[in-house]
Amino acid sequence: MASDCLFCGIIAGDVPGQIVDSDEHTVAFMDINPATPGHALVVPREHSSDLMEISDEDLERTMVAARRLARKMEASLEPAGYNVLNACRPAAWQTVFHFHLHVIPRYEDDPLKLPWVPRGAEPDEIAAVADRIREGQA
Ligand code: AMP
Ligand code: ZN
Repeated sequence: MASDCLFCGIIAGDVPGQIVDSDEHTVAFMDINPATPGHALVVPREHSSDLMEISDEDLERTMVAARRLARKMEASLEPAGYNVLNACRPAAWQTVFHFHLHVIPRYEDDPLKLPWVPRGAEPDEIAAVADRIREGQA
């Protein structure tokens, strides 16, 4: 647990949260500022700051828990679809630095819009970037 972490505080019960699902390794709670009705966050109990830091095991557990939560929503909220999102680092809009997956139920008339405008690229440019990624070390 990180003592200065908001989501560790929710997991520990020190900060109020509407917990909707949990298991040995994960907790799911409602987002305080929902994008749509039902917007929730799924976190590993063990603190890790982001996608780069989280262990493979906790990443798997958190993703599986996100789908379990979506299935609970399926039976209760009956959304038309879902977005499961992660923001990694401030450049990608991360604001809370305890890894989390957003589970956002979607409705036919909800206000969310695709957050990017496709910029397009020539096949050569795509291939060049693909080469750079292939050369990277995971
Ligand atoms: P991100 O910008 O991806 O790091 O997402 C952080 C999310 O945490 C935002 O959607 C916030 O609305 C949400 N949030 C911030 N504080 C709280 C809180 N105390 N309880 C529940 N959700 C929170
Ligand atoms: Zn934390």
